Amino acid sequence: MVVVMEERATEEQIERVVAQLVTMGYDVHRSTGATRTVIGAVGGARMGDPRLVELLEGVQEVVRITEPFKLASRTFKQDDTVFLCGDVRIGGDEVIVMAGPCSAESEQQVQATAAAVKRAGAKVLRGGAFKPRSSPYSFQGLGEEGLRLLRAAADQHGLPLVTEVMDASQIEVVVQYADVLQVGARNMQNFTLLRELGKTRKPILLKRGISATIEEWLLSSEYVLAGGNMHVILCERGIRTFESYTRNTLDISAIPVVKKLSHLPVFVDPSHGTGRRDKVAPMARAAVAAGADGLLIEVHCDPDHALSDGAQSMFPSQFERLMAELRIIAPAIGRSICVEPVARRGWGR
Ligand code: PEP
Ligand code: MN
Repeated sequence: MVVVMEERATEEQIERVVAQLVTMGYDVHRSTGATRTVIGAVGGARMGDPRLVELLEGVQEVVRITEPFKLASRTFKQDDTVFLCGDVRIGGDEVIVMAGPCSAESEQQVQATAAAVKRAGAKVLRGGAFKPRSSPYSFQGLGEEGLRLLRAAADQHGLPLVTEVMDASQIEVVVQYADVLQVGARNMQNFTLLRELGKTRKPILLKRGISATIEEWLLSSEYVLAGGNMHVILCERGIRTFESYTRNTLDISAIPVVKKLSHLPVFVDPSHGTGRRDKVAPMARAAVAAGADGLLIEVHCDPDHALSDGAQSMFPSQFERLMAELRIIAPAIGRSICVEPVARRGWGR
């Protein structure tokens, strides 16, 4: 349930409500908005009579959350969740583009790609060091050496870094290098990992599983939120359907659906969503037009020789061009996007 306090409720009254909820067996999460405090009560193995709370002083209303996801729901928190990652504001008016290679491969590749995405207006560097590959014989990532290369490039270009953590045992090392921890599609229901990430205080970018419903995806975010980490970004990256022309089917309709159900920021990954670099820009444009709070895009300085996901990685010139297009689309729907001047040289392929 959600307990909405009166605007002028005192701290003492709030604490009395919290104590009552704890006695009733609930886990309590406070959300202090611009005008009032809302208290989310989840769990409640020994569910008590909600009237015991309704009658307490300072309580305006007790609302039952009917969705199976509680802390992720708009009922618990009406305002969009906005938070800072370094000096990058996630979930605000500005559409944030995270870009970089699928995997860190070498110092030169990471540096060149980071420089290119920064120049084009990306606000966060992406790159994998621990790679979840369908085949155990494919390139598995450089591990901690990859993290070092990515961190150095991120620092050099003044960008925060998002990188994947595949297993709970990797959290300790990944948090030392990353600003945002990515949970890959294949791990969306790795509940042990999600629970451990709930204990960290770094933002989590949670990809949608390849065959996950929106409800399952939101329930996965709930594992992180319930641990006390409220900084979760949901990332739509395509789901598996009968269509085989594209690698996955990017579910653009998930954007308005999730934006209505949840206060969490919604990002879109059109690279894994399509698997083909010629389809990345149209889907990125569509995602921004549909209200995405940000994008996660694979860019490589030499995609034809990439060790992973080369076919879906954009050339820097294509990415630059896409950013210029997004600068036209974003304001049309009341959003902004990085306006740093871009050197417009040979847009080419
Ligand atoms: C990635 O971002 O490189 C990746 C492996 O993504 P996903 O988990 O969506 O396949
Ligand atoms: Mn990839």
